[in-house]
Amino acid sequence: MTAMSKLERVIASVPDVLSFVKDVYGASVEYPTGTWKTVEEHVKDQMADIQENRKLPDSKKFGVFIGKFLYVQIRSETAEKAMEYISSNFASPDELAATDADLLATKLRQLGYRFPDKAFTLVEISKILRDKFNSKVDDYIRFAKRNYREDPILEVRGVGFKTRDIALSAFTAEYSLVDVHIANVLSRTGLILKAYLYGLKLTTDRSDENNYFEMTKLLSKLSKEANMMPFEFDQTLWFFGKDYCSPMNCDKCPVKKCVTRSFKDSVE
Ligand code: SF4
Repeated sequence: MTAMSKLERVIASVPDVLSFVKDVYGASVEYPTGTWKTVEEHVKDQMADIQENRKLPDSKKFGVFIGKFLYVQIRSETAEKAMEYISSNFASPDELAATDADLLATKLRQLGYRFPDKAFTLVEISKILRDKFNSKVDDYIRFAKRNYREDPILEVRGVGFKTRDIALSAFTAEYSLVDVHIANVLSRTGLILKAYLYGLKLTTDRSDENNYFEMTKLLSKLSKEANMMPFEFDQTLWFFGKDYCSPMNCDKCPVKKCVTRSFKDSVE
Protein backbone atom coordinates (compact mmCIF):
# COMPACT_ATOMS: atom_id res chain seq x y z
CA MET A 1 0.00 0.00 0.00
CA THR A 2 1.44 3.42 -0.96
CA ALA A 3 1.78 6.29 1.55
CA MET A 4 -0.97 8.15 -0.32
CA SER A 5 -3.40 5.25 -0.19
CA LYS A 6 -2.80 4.95 3.56
CA LEU A 7 -3.67 8.63 3.94
CA GLU A 8 -6.78 8.16 1.85
CA ARG A 9 -7.75 5.21 3.99
CA VAL A 10 -7.35 7.27 7.17
CA ILE A 11 -9.47 10.11 5.78
CA ALA A 12 -12.14 7.68 4.60
CA SER A 13 -12.24 6.14 8.10
CA VAL A 14 -13.12 9.40 9.90
CA PRO A 15 -16.76 9.08 11.02
CA ASP A 16 -19.28 11.77 10.26
CA VAL A 17 -20.44 13.30 13.52
CA LEU A 18 -24.15 12.49 13.31
CA SER A 19 -23.48 8.81 12.57
CA PHE A 20 -20.89 8.66 15.34
CA VAL A 21 -23.38 9.97 17.94
CA LYS A 22 -26.05 7.55 16.70
CA ASP A 23 -23.62 4.62 17.00
CA VAL A 24 -22.32 5.64 20.43
CA TYR A 25 -25.69 6.38 22.03
CA GLY A 26 -26.56 2.69 22.35
CA ALA A 27 -23.31 1.70 24.13
CA SER A 28 -23.86 0.66 27.74
CA VAL A 29 -21.47 2.22 30.27
CA GLU A 30 -21.16 2.22 34.06
CA TYR A 31 -21.46 5.52 35.92
CA PRO A 32 -21.60 6.30 38.77
CA THR A 33 -20.14 3.05 40.01
CA GLY A 34 -22.71 0.32 39.72
CA THR A 35 -25.15 2.19 37.47
CA TRP A 36 -25.26 0.76 33.96
CA LYS A 37 -27.07 2.84 31.36
CA THR A 38 -26.65 3.65 27.70
CA VAL A 39 -24.59 6.70 26.82
CA GLU A 40 -27.81 8.33 25.62
CA GLU A 41 -29.51 7.80 29.01
CA HIS A 42 -26.50 9.18 30.91
CA VAL A 43 -26.38 12.26 28.69
CA LYS A 44 -30.11 12.84 29.08
CA ASP A 45 -29.67 12.63 32.88
CA GLN A 46 -26.97 15.30 32.73
CA MET A 47 -29.16 17.58 30.62
CA ALA A 48 -32.10 17.04 33.01
CA ASP A 49 -29.82 17.97 35.96
CA ILE A 50 -29.08 21.30 34.29
CA GLN A 51 -32.80 22.01 33.93
CA GLU A 52 -33.39 21.10 37.61
CA ASN A 53 -30.44 23.23 38.79
CA ARG A 54 -31.79 26.24 36.93
CA LYS A 55 -35.04 26.03 38.87
CA LEU A 56 -33.35 25.93 42.31
CA PRO A 57 -33.81 28.80 44.76
CA ASP A 58 -30.76 31.08 45.10
CA SER A 59 -29.51 29.42 48.31
CA LYS A 60 -29.47 25.92 46.74
CA LYS A 61 -28.08 27.27 43.49
CA PHE A 62 -25.11 28.70 45.34
CA GLY A 63 -24.40 25.32 47.00
CA VAL A 64 -24.40 23.52 43.64
CA PHE A 65 -22.24 26.19 41.99
CA ILE A 66 -19.59 26.51 44.69
CA GLY A 67 -19.54 22.74 45.30
CA LYS A 68 -18.40 22.12 41.73
CA PHE A 69 -15.06 23.75 42.54
CA LEU A 70 -14.39 20.88 44.97
CA TYR A 71 -14.25 18.32 42.18
CA VAL A 72 -10.52 18.08 41.55
CA GLN A 73 -11.38 14.61 40.36
CA ILE A 74 -14.81 14.76 38.74
CA ARG A 75 -16.30 12.06 40.97
CA SER A 76 -15.14 11.20 44.43
CA GLU A 77 -16.97 10.27 47.61
CA THR A 78 -15.02 12.73 49.71
CA ALA A 79 -15.83 15.56 47.30
CA GLU A 80 -19.50 14.60 47.68
CA LYS A 81 -19.19 14.80 51.49
CA ALA A 82 -17.39 18.16 51.31
CA MET A 83 -20.00 19.49 48.88
CA GLU A 84 -22.80 18.34 51.18
CA TYR A 85 -21.14 20.11 54.13
CA ILE A 86 -20.75 23.37 52.18
CA SER A 87 -24.31 23.40 50.85
CA SER A 88 -25.84 22.58 54.24
CA ASN A 89 -23.83 25.18 56.14
CA PHE A 90 -23.53 28.13 53.75
CA ALA A 91 -26.68 29.38 52.07
CA SER A 92 -25.16 32.39 50.33
CA PRO A 93 -21.88 33.86 49.08
CA ASP A 94 -22.05 36.37 51.98
CA GLU A 95 -21.94 33.57 54.56
CA LEU A 96 -19.07 31.69 52.93
CA ALA A 97 -17.14 34.90 52.20
CA ALA A 98 -17.24 35.76 55.91
CA THR A 99 -15.78 32.37 56.90
CA ASP A 100 -12.20 31.86 58.02
CA ALA A 101 -10.54 29.84 55.23
CA ASP A 102 -8.19 28.05 57.66
CA LEU A 103 -11.10 26.85 59.82
CA LEU A 104 -12.94 25.67 56.71
CA ALA A 105 -9.79 23.84 55.53
CA THR A 106 -9.63 22.03 58.88
CA LYS A 107 -13.26 20.99 58.57
CA LEU A 108 -12.76 19.74 55.01
CA ARG A 109 -9.71 17.77 56.13
CA GLN A 110 -11.78 16.15 58.93
CA LEU A 111 -14.26 15.05 56.27
CA GLY A 112 -11.42 13.28 54.48
CA TYR A 113 -11.20 15.82 51.65
CA ARG A 114 -7.62 15.78 50.46
CA PHE A 115 -7.35 19.28 48.99
CA PRO A 116 -7.62 21.74 51.90
CA ASP A 117 -6.33 24.64 49.71
CA LYS A 118 -9.75 24.56 48.10
CA ALA A 119 -11.15 26.21 51.25
CA PHE A 120 -9.24 29.37 50.29
CA THR A 121 -10.54 29.05 46.71
CA LEU A 122 -14.17 28.77 47.84
CA VAL A 123 -13.92 31.74 50.19
CA GLU A 124 -12.29 33.93 47.51
CA ILE A 125 -14.90 32.99 44.89
CA SER A 126 -17.65 33.79 47.39
CA LYS A 127 -16.12 37.23 48.00
CA ILE A 128 -16.19 37.93 44.25
CA LEU A 129 -19.83 36.81 43.99
CA ARG A 130 -20.71 38.98 46.98
CA ASP A 131 -18.75 42.08 45.91
CA LYS A 132 -19.19 42.05 42.12
CA PHE A 133 -22.41 40.14 41.50
CA ASN A 134 -24.64 41.11 44.40
CA SER A 135 -24.36 37.50 45.67
CA LYS A 136 -26.41 36.28 42.69
CA VAL A 137 -25.11 33.19 40.90
CA ASP A 138 -27.41 33.95 37.95
CA ASP A 139 -25.85 37.40 37.50
CA TYR A 140 -22.42 35.81 37.45
CA ILE A 141 -23.48 33.15 34.91
CA ARG A 142 -24.77 35.86 32.56
CA PHE A 143 -21.56 37.85 33.00
CA ALA A 144 -19.31 34.83 32.35
CA LYS A 145 -21.12 34.08 29.11
CA ARG A 146 -20.22 37.52 27.75
CA ASN A 147 -16.72 37.61 29.30
CA TYR A 148 -15.30 34.13 28.83
CA ARG A 149 -11.66 35.13 29.36
CA GLU A 150 -12.07 38.32 31.41
CA ASP A 151 -13.65 36.74 34.45
CA PRO A 152 -12.49 37.77 37.97
CA ILE A 153 -13.09 34.21 39.23
CA LEU A 154 -10.28 33.06 36.91
CA GLU A 155 -7.90 35.20 38.98
CA VAL A 156 -8.51 33.13 42.11
CA ARG A 157 -5.64 30.77 42.90
CA GLY A 158 -6.53 27.23 41.91
CA VAL A 159 -9.20 28.17 39.34
CA GLY A 160 -8.56 27.59 35.65
CA PHE A 161 -10.89 27.68 32.65
CA LYS A 162 -11.83 24.03 32.97
CA THR A 163 -12.64 24.24 36.70
CA ARG A 164 -14.70 27.36 36.14
CA ASP A 165 -16.49 25.81 33.16
CA ILE A 166 -17.42 22.72 35.21
CA ALA A 167 -19.22 25.00 37.66
CA LEU A 168 -20.98 26.89 34.86
CA SER A 169 -22.00 23.62 33.20
CA ALA A 170 -24.19 22.81 36.18
CA PHE A 171 -26.53 25.52 34.86
CA THR A 172 -25.98 25.82 31.13
CA ALA A 173 -25.12 23.43 28.30
CA GLU A 174 -23.09 26.03 26.43
CA TYR A 175 -19.67 24.89 27.66
CA SER A 176 -17.56 21.86 26.89
CA LEU A 177 -15.00 20.45 29.30
CA VAL A 178 -12.07 18.93 27.49
CA ASP A 179 -10.31 16.17 29.39
CA VAL A 180 -8.21 13.12 28.66
CA HIS A 181 -11.21 10.84 27.93
CA ILE A 182 -12.61 13.29 25.40
CA ALA A 183 -9.23 13.88 23.78
CA ASN A 184 -8.73 10.11 23.50
CA VAL A 185 -12.05 9.52 21.70
CA LEU A 186 -11.41 12.40 19.31
CA SER A 187 -7.94 11.06 18.51
CA ARG A 188 -8.85 7.39 18.27
CA THR A 189 -11.88 7.87 16.05
CA GLY A 190 -10.14 10.43 13.84
CA LEU A 191 -12.70 13.15 14.61
CA ILE A 192 -9.79 15.32 15.73
CA LEU A 193 -8.72 15.61 12.08
CA LYS A 194 -11.75 17.83 11.51
CA ALA A 195 -9.82 20.53 13.42
CA TYR A 196 -7.80 21.06 10.24
CA LEU A 197 -10.94 21.51 8.18
CA TYR A 198 -12.02 24.20 10.64
CA GLY A 199 -8.60 25.89 10.56
CA LEU A 200 -7.95 25.25 14.27
CA LYS A 201 -4.39 25.04 15.55
CA LEU A 202 -4.07 22.07 17.87
CA THR A 203 -0.83 20.95 19.46
CA THR A 204 -0.01 17.81 21.41
CA ASP A 205 0.70 19.86 24.56
CA ARG A 206 -2.35 19.26 26.75
CA SER A 207 -1.13 21.76 29.36
CA ASP A 208 -1.14 24.59 26.77
CA GLU A 209 -4.02 26.99 27.51
CA ASN A 210 -4.46 27.99 23.85
CA ASN A 211 -4.71 24.33 22.94
CA TYR A 212 -7.56 24.02 25.46
CA PHE A 213 -9.41 26.87 23.71
CA GLU A 214 -8.84 25.31 20.30
CA MET A 215 -10.20 22.01 21.60
CA THR A 216 -13.29 23.71 23.02
CA LYS A 217 -13.80 25.41 19.63
CA LEU A 218 -13.52 22.02 17.92
CA LEU A 219 -16.13 20.54 20.31
CA SER A 220 -18.40 23.49 19.65
CA LYS A 221 -18.12 22.98 15.86
CA LEU A 222 -18.63 19.22 16.13
CA SER A 223 -21.62 19.66 18.43
CA LYS A 224 -23.24 21.89 15.80
CA GLU A 225 -22.70 19.15 13.21
CA ALA A 226 -24.45 16.77 15.61
CA ASN A 227 -27.30 19.23 16.29
CA MET A 228 -26.42 19.17 19.97
CA MET A 229 -25.44 21.68 22.64
CA PRO A 230 -21.66 21.73 23.36
CA PHE A 231 -22.09 20.14 26.82
CA GLU A 232 -24.42 17.48 25.41
CA PHE A 233 -21.85 16.47 22.81
CA ASP A 234 -19.03 16.75 25.34
CA GLN A 235 -20.82 14.37 27.71
CA THR A 236 -21.49 11.92 24.87
CA LEU A 237 -17.75 11.72 24.25
CA TRP A 238 -16.97 11.62 27.95
CA PHE A 239 -19.25 8.74 28.93
CA PHE A 240 -18.16 6.77 25.89
CA GLY A 241 -14.47 7.59 26.41
CA LYS A 242 -14.31 6.97 30.13
CA ASP A 243 -15.41 3.37 30.25
CA TYR A 244 -15.82 2.08 26.73
CA CYS A 245 -13.50 3.42 24.08
CA SER A 246 -10.27 1.44 24.21
CA PRO A 247 -8.30 -0.36 21.51
CA MET A 248 -9.17 -3.54 23.52
CA ASN A 249 -12.88 -3.01 22.74
CA CYS A 250 -12.69 -2.27 19.01
CA ASP A 251 -14.01 -5.71 18.02
CA LYS A 252 -17.34 -5.17 19.81
CA CYS A 253 -17.56 -1.38 19.42
CA PRO A 254 -20.77 0.01 17.86
CA VAL A 255 -18.92 2.86 16.09
CA LYS A 256 -18.97 1.82 12.44
CA LYS A 257 -16.24 4.14 11.15
CA CYS A 258 -13.11 4.67 13.24
CA VAL A 259 -9.51 5.43 12.24
CA THR A 260 -8.02 3.25 15.00
CA ARG A 261 -9.96 0.15 14.01
CA SER A 262 -9.35 0.76 10.35
CA PHE A 263 -5.63 1.03 11.02
CA LYS A 264 -5.67 -2.13 13.16
CA ASP A 265 -7.51 -4.03 10.40
CA SER A 266 -4.98 -2.86 7.82
CA VAL A 267 -1.99 -4.26 9.78
CA GLU A 268 -3.64 -7.54 10.83
S1 SF4 B 1 -13.47 1.34 20.91
FE1 SF4 B 1 -12.08 1.15 19.15
S2 SF4 B 1 -13.46 1.19 17.35
FE2 SF4 B 1 -14.62 2.00 19.10
S3 SF4 B 1 -14.33 4.22 18.96
FE3 SF4 B 1 -12.79 3.43 20.41
S4 SF4 B 1 -10.95 3.09 19.18
FE4 SF4 B 1 -12.70 3.28 17.74
